[in-house]
This record gives sequence, structure tokens and C-alpha cells, in this order.
Amino acid sequence: MAQMYLNGEWADAVSGGTREVKNPCDNSTIDTVPAGDEADAQAAVDSARAASQSWAATAPDERANILHAGIAAVKEQMKDLAVLLTKEQGKPFMESMGEINHFLHGMEFYAGMASKIRGSQVPLPPSMNPNSYGVIMKQPVGVCVGIIPWNFPITLMGTKVGPALIAGNPIIIKPASSTPLTTLKIIGLLNEAGLPPGVLNCVTGSGGTLGTALITHPDVRRVALTGSSETGKKVMELAGPDFKRITLELGGSDPMIVCPDADINKAVSGCMIGRFWNAGQACLAVKRLYLFDEIYDEFLEKLVAKVSRYQVGSGMEKAEKPHIRMGPLHTAAQREEIEAQLADAVAGGANVVLGGKRPQDNALADGHFFEPAVVTGVPEDSKLATEEVFGPVLPVFKVGDLDEGIAKANNSQWGLGASIWTNDMKRANRAAREVQSGMLWINQLHFGYDEMPFGGIKASGTGHEHGPEALEYYLEPKSVVFGGLD
Ligand code: NAD
Repeated sequence: MAQMYLNGEWADAVSGGTREVKNPCDNSTIDTVPAGDEADAQAAVDSARAASQSWAATAPDERANILHAGIAAVKEQMKDLAVLLTKEQGKPFMESMGEINHFLHGMEFYAGMASKIRGSQVPLPPSMNPNSYGVIMKQPVGVCVGIIPWNFPITLMGTKVGPALIAGNPIIIKPASSTPLTTLKIIGLLNEAGLPPGVLNCVTGSGGTLGTALITHPDVRRVALTGSSETGKKVMELAGPDFKRITLELGGSDPMIVCPDADINKAVSGCMIGRFWNAGQACLAVKRLYLFDEIYDEFLEKLVAKVSRYQVGSGMEKAEKPHIRMGPLHTAAQREEIEAQLADAVAGGANVVLGGKRPQDNALADGHFFEPAVVTGVPEDSKLATEEVFGPVLPVFKVGDLDEGIAKANNSQWGLGASIWTNDMKRANRAAREVQSGMLWINQLHFGYDEMPFGGIKASGTGHEHGPEALEYYLEPKSVVFGGLD
């Protein structure tokens, strides 16, 4: 049985309760983890609070050295960790390796920033005191909590752990109930590399019980959630009364606009990976495709040819070329939601050009497999167009010009990412200015770079992760006025 990690030790839940972790590929039980609750939240916060002063006082180079040692330890065990990630999450092994690599890159980015955090000196008007000046100090916020979803459990844990630790804060990670195993292993390795007890903790349990207890604990000052917009609303309500620092990285329905002057082959590849990576379970996946009239038929034909190469199956087995492996959806409920969204569009007159059903193969019957779908004629008020579609289904729309493309892209509650594919600078410039999203890619795959601030607008959330910008959420600026110097 796996255990939680708090106060420098492995631990069971105070209640002794456990929960099974299942393999989405065949529904077998991989392991069990503690079912933590309020008592475990209290223990984790106590240990983090006890560690906070000395960690804040630790030299930045020392923090970076410990992180670098942890990064090296994770690198050494990368293959085993990727196998475990594939087992609990479902994604193909190659994608698990990619995810852990991305995590390591992000952690290295923040380890490198440890000694670069700085405040500023401010000249002040002489009216009060001709010799005074201001200093803005950056101080750690205190005990942080990171709540993580199941789709990219490792990279999204890293986007919280890296900046929190480097800024001098202790942090408690709560992984999704269905993907705690690889996270626990990595948290253990990072701790064994030399972190003092209590600085980096990981507790497992449900969002409603353990998550709520962590968020509402009076000693927690900062909450970073990556999850659905529905959970984001709850977290905002829970954290609001105590004025906690929150960032909410939530759902999305990224539009992709393809103009007639685009490099069509590159755009088709970008669309295919953008929509179907991780079986479509990505916040910044391409979830609505807008094609100009002139290229609609050519694009669709090329896209369907590529998507038909996907073959669903176990993430531990490579597909034979020219097939490409797609793993199962993460849960039975996830597959049912996708099926309901697709059925709703079909009832409204949509045409499923490819896929869109469970595979016939009996050997796959126990997993949550779903054949990737491309859908045309989708009503604009259908669930497929208006809700977040968190699975491998792509609705394709035709647009007459850029005005219509931008208007349709913006006609959404979401505002995470968006892309435009064009070689016309004027079109690219218009999209950069007018598409309502936190990120815009021009002729580029939807991807969250560690170097660039990443966050959504509208129902996609508030605040940023990634980049030096993320550190702002883990540091409090303190204005200090130096007077009496004359
Ligand atoms: P989810 O909201 O169901 O769960 C996310 C985490 O929140 C889990 O750890 C869960 O246990 C916890 N949680 C749930 N209810 C809670 C509550 N009341 N209080 C405290 N914690 C609670 O999301 P999910 O299904 O795991 O992940 C998929 C969602 O995450 C999608 O909407 C996706 O778009 C979004 N996502 C966003 C980003 C981003 O950066 N914007 C990245 C990845 C995923």
C-alpha cells in the first residue's frame, strides 16, 4: 500500500481509511492509498507551518541545490515513474515520458530562478522627508496548498512545487484521487534529496473532504488549483472569506482558426496533436476547429486521414506503424460525458465523419476506450460547441472570413488558449489583439511553455502559472520606507 508524505515521513491516514487506485486500461487495482480527511489536513498544515520560518531563512542557493539533487533523482528513475504514470493515468508510455520531462524542465527553470528573486528601491518625493526612500521587499506568503487534476498530474504538481519552494514557502500537494501514485513517488524523491521535514508534503484523499479542509485551514495562506471551472468556483468561495491568495487554472475550449494562406500540412499536424494528445484530455487542447471555406474540404480530408491512424489500446504497448497509440479515457464517467456530448450534437443534426464509439475488440472491454472522432455540421448551441469537451472528439466549423472566425472563437464562456494558422501578418496581428484568450499561438501547437506565463480569462480562471510571473503569487511585496537617514 502507498502512503502519504508529511513532516518528512511516510504516513497512513489518521482514520486508517484507504482507497483503491485503478488502471483505466483494464479497471484492475494498481495499489491503494490513504483516504485522508480533516485530521490529515491538520497534520499536514502543522508540519508545513513548523517548517516555514527556517525554510524562508534558507539561502536561495541552498534551496536550488536541494531541488537540483531532487531533479537528478527523478531523472534517474524516469522510466519506472513513466510506467507507473501510464498505469494510473492511461496515457501511452511515450506521453508519460514526455510529461515527466516537461516536469523536470519546469523544476529546473525554477531552481535556476532561486537566486534571481529581487525587490526594488523606490525614490520618494521629498515633501515628507528629503532623505527617505522606499524598498519593496519580496517575502514568502507562508503555507501553500496545491490541488492537482488527473490529466497531467506530474507537470501540474511541478508548476506549484517549483515556485513555492524557491520563493521560500512550504507546500502541501493534494493530487487527484485517481492519480496519486507517481506523485507520491516523486514527492518522496524530492524530499530524500535533502528537503527539511514539512517543507514538501503530499496528502491523498477526496477534494470535497481533504481538499476543503486544506483550503479552509486558517494557517494556509495560498491555494493554487488546477481543475475544472466548477471546482474553481467552489475553491474561490472557500478561500474568499479569509482573503487567501488564489490562482485558478481551469477548463477551456480552445478555438483553432485556419486561414486559406496557412501551411495546411503543418496546421493539420498541429490540429491532430492539439486535439488528440492524452486522448483529448488537456485543458489547452484544440476543442473547436474553424476552417475558412476555401480550404475546408482539403483540410478535412487530410485531417481525417491522419486521425484514422490512431489505434486505441494499452498505453504500455506501442502501436504498429503507421498506427499511433491512443490510451483509454481516464474514467468511466469521463467516457460517458463525452458520449453524451456527442449524442447531443448528433441529435441536433451533426455528422460523425470518423470514430465516436467504443471499440468492438473484446480485449479492450474492461478499459474506458473511445475511438477518436471528427464531427461536422455541429449546432453552435450544442454541448459539443459550448461545453468543455474533455476527450477525443473534434467539432469542425466552416467560416467565411476572419471576422466570422474571431467572432465564433470568442462566442464562448472559455478563454484559455487559441491559435491562428496564417502567413498573413495582418491576420495574425488581428487575432493576437482580438481573440479573447490567455494565450495565442500563431502557426504553433497549443502548448504550455515553462518560460511563458500561462493562465486563462473568463471561465478559464484567474492568475498565472509558469515563467517568473508565477513567483508573484508565492511572494508578498512588502513596502518599507527608510526615513530618519539625515
Ligand atoms: P476536478 O476539478 O474534478 O479536480 C481537480 C482537483 O480538485 C482534484 O484534486 C480534486 O480532488 C480537487 N477537488 C474537487 N473538488 C474539490 C473541492 N470542493 N475542494 C477542494 N478540492 C476539490 O478536475 P479534473 O477532472 O481532475 O481535471 C480536469 C479539469 O482540469 C478540466 O476542466 C481541465 O480543463 C482542467 N485543467 C486545467 C488546466 C489549466 O492549466 N487551465 C490544466 C489541466 C486541467
